[in-house]
Amino acid sequence: MPCSRRRFIAIAAALASTPVFIEEARADAPMVSESDPTAQALGYKANASQVDKAKYAKYQAGQSCSTCQLWQGKAGAASGPCPMFGGKQVSSGGWCSAYVKKA
Ligand code: SF4
Repeated sequence: MPCSRRRFIAIAAALASTPVFIEEARADAPMVSESDPTAQALGYKANASQVDKAKYAKYQAGQSCSTCQLWQGKAGAASGPCPMFGGKQVSSGGWCSAYVKKA
């Protein structure tokens, strides 16, 4: 019995610390490159004004990562994590075709 209690405590401690580890990894995550295959597939541009408007007709002036529902950066930050890129950092002024206006 003591062994299984210790094991339970060890597992609980490991699970409790996991989200902290993920948050730390995100803070250090690299910036997404426009040449990244996912970035190219989604038409990501670090500067939204450079979006291929012919190809991505849904883009509207004024849209950017910082106003996207998927943006996980802090308000006013120059970059922040995006789940579309596995938590890598995107530019607050960027845009990709997965853009969803923040509610
Ligand atoms: Fe930016 Fe949203 Fe595209 Fe992520 S999903 S890169 S936050 S526009």
